[in-house]
Amino acid sequence: MNKQWEKLNPGILKLELFCKGMRIDPTCDLEKDARLVSRIRAGLGSGLEIILPDNLYANIPVLEEFAKQSPFLLIKRSSRYYITKEGSDLCQVTIPSQPLWYQKRTSNGTLMSRVGMLQGTYLAIYPARVCSYWLSEPRQNCRFCATGLNVGVTEEAEKSVQDVVETAVAARKESRITFVHFNTGYCERKALDILAPYVKAVKEETGLLIGVQCPPQKELSKYDMMMEMGTDHFSFCFEFFNKEVFREVCPGKAETLGQETFFTAMEYTVGKMGKGKVSGEIIAGLEPIEDTLKAIDYITSIGAFPTICIFRPLAGTDYQTKPSPKFEDMLLIFRHMYEACKKNSIPTDIAPKIRVSLVVLPYEGRYFMEGYGFDDFIYSCKLTLMRLLFRTYYGIKLFLK
Ligand code: SF4
Repeated sequence: MNKQWEKLNPGILKLELFCKGMRIDPTCDLEKDARLVSRIRAGLGSGLEIILPDNLYANIPVLEEFAKQSPFLLIKRSSRYYITKEGSDLCQVTIPSQPLWYQKRTSNGTLMSRVGMLQGTYLAIYPARVCSYWLSEPRQNCRFCATGLNVGVTEEAEKSVQDVVETAVAARKESRITFVHFNTGYCERKALDILAPYVKAVKEETGLLIGVQCPPQKELSKYDMMMEMGTDHFSFCFEFFNKEVFREVCPGKAETLGQETFFTAMEYTVGKMGKGKVSGEIIAGLEPIEDTLKAIDYITSIGAFPTICIFRPLAGTDYQTKPSPKFEDMLLIFRHMYEACKKNSIPTDIAPKIRVSLVVLPYEGRYFMEGYGFDDFIYSCKLTLMRLLFRTYYGIKLFLK
């Protein structure tokens, strides 16, 4: 291996690529070699899926304006793909190919890629109709979001339980997924009731791990129902800790829910499920850094893990002309994420074979360590032990299914 590549930190490269995007050289043949670049759900997965060194999945912005100025360039040479920066090779990367099941149809005749798509190594599905904030007059959608531009256009407007189960079965068989992630936008107070039959059916038919992400509900008993049906993970997108920014960027959430509803649901589900199974999702790059750091401290202090999305000014959204965040600022935030997870002993990367391309998750925190002390060693030993126990248990359960 090239000496330069040995020194490369793939986690930091992933972060920089998220902030700066990447240009595509004409030598690349992505139509043939890559997964479909398609905007689904809120749009964060609208980039090019690649695998960086160390098996690090990343969904890189390539379509947005800022990506056209990127110092990074993807090139193809002798059938291999490389990322270059200012004319020098940085590393070889893998372009995951399109799964064959994308082109298959369910028994209802629906194209499976319009039911769900892979994001990293898990199946992402938005089963309900478009978020109500996009339909209100005036629109109250979160300003960074593209759901209203995607649902019903690049994916089916509504998916039947049968379509979803068949797509999950195909993805499990052919792509060996272990996790299905469901999300919805705002559906008044019905999101969990809408998702329940999908969760139940997919769990019963496949035994896969299931995550649910939708605006929080005040009736907390609904979360107990979802756990009984087989939900293994909840995530809550409160987006911003800063109250003014929350109100300005997420007018619908601010008016109908308020931050407190998110916090209550998060604390309730952590209390029921235990540490490391619930996530608080925030966006870095639109609120002052100190508020993002406070959000990380809050999330980890209650036993949840932070999912930090780097703001992406998606084409067509209200915020398409905003600048992409500065890499140096993001580095600070992700270093803090690792330290906060370690301080609060948050379990990360426990479930098997889940690689996430849209965000840098706490399981990638080791790339942001500054030095390696005794506390890092203890934290890493704890995680290794937990992984071993859970993966053995899950492997046996799936085998018996
Ligand atoms: S709640 Fe906000 S981010 Fe989620 S789908 Fe609706 S507008 Fe988009």
